[in-house]
Amino acid sequence: MSRNETLFSRAQAVIPGGVNSPVRAFGSVGGFPRFIARAEGARMWDADGAAYIDYVGSWGPAIAGHAHPAIVEAVREAALKGLSFGAPTEVEVEIAEQLCAHLPSLDMVRLVSSGTEATMSAIRLARGYTGRDTIIKFEGCYHGHADCLLVKAGSGLLTFGNPSSGGVPDDFAKHTLVLDYNNPEQLEETFRAKGDSIAAVIVEPFAGNMNLIRPSDRFLHLLRQLCTAHGAVLIFDEVMTGFRVGPRGVQGLVGITPDLTTLGKVIGGGMPVGAFGGRRDIMEKIAPLGSVYQAGTLSGSPVAVAAGLASLKLIQAPGFYEGLEARTVQLVEGLQVAAKRHGVTFCAQSFGGMFGLYFAETLPQSFADVMASDRNRFNQFFHAMLDAGHYFAPSAFEAGFVSAAHTEADIAATVAAADRVFAGMAG
Ligand code: PLP
Repeated sequence: MSRNETLFSRAQAVIPGGVNSPVRAFGSVGGFPRFIARAEGARMWDADGAAYIDYVGSWGPAIAGHAHPAIVEAVREAALKGLSFGAPTEVEVEIAEQLCAHLPSLDMVRLVSSGTEATMSAIRLARGYTGRDTIIKFEGCYHGHADCLLVKAGSGLLTFGNPSSGGVPDDFAKHTLVLDYNNPEQLEETFRAKGDSIAAVIVEPFAGNMNLIRPSDRFLHLLRQLCTAHGAVLIFDEVMTGFRVGPRGVQGLVGITPDLTTLGKVIGGGMPVGAFGGRRDIMEKIAPLGSVYQAGTLSGSPVAVAAGLASLKLIQAPGFYEGLEARTVQLVEGLQVAAKRHGVTFCAQSFGGMFGLYFAETLPQSFADVMASDRNRFNQFFHAMLDAGHYFAPSAFEAGFVSAAHTEADIAATVAAADRVFAGMAG
């Protein structure tokens, strides 16, 4: 038995499913997960010493590549000064100022330790601010694992074939209306019927947890108009897209100002940092200023924030996003050309350093389109690429990520491997 398999069997005895987050278990693609021993730049090495060019990037945070020396040094320096104090620090002010400067929709921001905490707190805040209970989310969007958001969600829930979770009381779920993603007509109808009871709409403005879907501009603009007209809080969940599709998130690309934004992943540079922020009049409702309670023993951890600040500094280097985007485009175009050469039904798209691959004729526009793509073919592709040393997300429902450490030669090697894999899948 390989060391990966031995570790997996040890893990399964003491950790449910052998993992601390469900998608890691390879449940959707089959086989055993690779236990990662170390990672550097664009590469990871598993417990058996096999090397992979990595397109998961810790599910998004590793935008500068793994173990970037500037981030590691920042963490080391911060750790030497003390791991946490439970009192405010200067670095928290710095990162808050930077986040507000990058995203014009943020007047104020509060730090938390995960994307889940960010969305959960933003929903509570929106409810406290409006005095209303109902929220709208969209099928296939994943916003972390807070009870009210685990209704028809994406990511790991889709991987396991069950879009909703056990343990969520009907009494909680009934306050969450689930609509179709990218369906403007249904959205209008719902607001017409229930607009005055809706506290918030939370949306992944480009959805990255049911593979990758860019909704129509009409859908996103309509969200803004309807929330404004009915006094509902519009929450853009940019935990994945923030600083990933570009320096101002999706909001910067599409020119829409949400009332609240949730962030995570890149802003922690690989350490646990999340954030939610937005309009001052809403944010001032949070304790200690207002009545909406929110707190955290390790919120704003100086070590995690040091990693986040170093990550934010790296992405501000001239040409950072241009280079990242060029590599990502090289990947998706290369894969499409290779698939076409071998007659494999396949398409792909990317935004900034984020991409989606689909074994389907056309780019998906909805959750139903994603569910209709060929999952068996994806699984075949995934395993053949993994065996060849290219680590893609172990599920057909996840977006992929390129980092600034990926070189043209890395991408070319992945495309060449995919060409051989598609040749084997042809026919
Ligand atoms: N929101 C979105 C859009 C996400 O993609 C995720 C995680 O993948 C979350 C929220 C939850 O973040 P975390 O896993 O840090 O709790």
